[in-house]
Amino acid sequence: MATADHEVAENGNVEPPRSSLIFLGTGCSSALPNAMCLIQPSDPPCHVCSQSLSIPPEQNPNYRCNTSLLIDYCGGDGDHKYILIDVGKTFREQVLRWFTYHKIPQVDSVILTHEHADAVLGLDDIRTVQPYSSTNDIDPTPIYLSQYAMESIALKFPYLVKKKLKPGQEIRRVAQLDWKIVENDCKKPFVASGLQFSPLPVMHGEDYVCLGFLFGERCRVAYISDISRFLPPTEYYISKDGGGQLDLLILDTLYKKGSHNTHFCFPQTLDAVKRLCPKRALLIGMTHEFDHHKDNEFLMEWSRREGIPVQLARDGLRIPIEL
Ligand SMILES: [Zn+2]
Ligand SMILES: [Zn+2]
Repeated sequence: MATADHEVAENGNVEPPRSSLIFLGTGCSSALPNAMCLIQPSDPPCHVCSQSLSIPPEQNPNYRCNTSLLIDYCGGDGDHKYILIDVGKTFREQVLRWFTYHKIPQVDSVILTHEHADAVLGLDDIRTVQPYSSTNDIDPTPIYLSQYAMESIALKFPYLVKKKLKPGQEIRRVAQLDWKIVENDCKKPFVASGLQFSPLPVMHGEDYVCLGFLFGERCRVAYISDISRFLPPTEYYISKDGGGQLDLLILDTLYKKGSHNTHFCFPQTLDAVKRLCPKRALLIGMTHEFDHHKDNEFLMEWSRREGIPVQLARDGLRIPIEL
């Protein structure tokens, strides 16, 4: 017996969703452990970072690479497509650790939130997740980004942007990318590997616009990794009282206390969660001020009080979801 949306298994259980979200990284720009905490240890040493000396990374939720999400999207034809959001400084390590663990064979599309180092400096390694050809005669991977990010990346990685070889220039096996500009506008969606995304422009510092993304038809997911302030149209678009309740909000939180000029800290993050009122939220972008187990206990309490389940995500976390 089958319903329109779900196959019903023999035992009557609905089959689990075939798409999923894989958190490739949940840490700040410096990543965790913060190297300074290990080479110039404080007295007493930083508890969160020093754990990395005794606990292997795969068992240590306080070991956090640069924020990045991999969407394993299973469309109507049953085919899996892998959509990568951000390619930071730690991308190679994330591939070695989590592509192998979750058996991810390749990346089909890339989406960039902005052009800061922790979002783009791994772009050279995209070649390792593309098909191999000795002559580099492969279909370029589509990569979606803002015009501003495009201009900056053309300076950082000219060899990834240039299309034509100069006369006499030998072929080099560099990543093959098809650059596609997206607008800073919630109402201008684009489709990557069959899945529709709406850009969510947010302030990341008062002089800088970064993009988050809204995706999923059956479950509405918003991913916002770098934010210091919501722009009113974006906030409206993803809030329960506005454009509709999110099933999952993935949101930036940098420090435990106070405020920061380019990121939300814990108090602003929790305020935003209350205003947007998603069904569930997961936090990313944490520094070593956050201790995974301890702060998730606090959040359990907070969630019971506020009626919105919120937890810190961790690297490698895979969430099955119907998109
Ligand atoms: Zn530390
Ligand atoms: Zn940034």
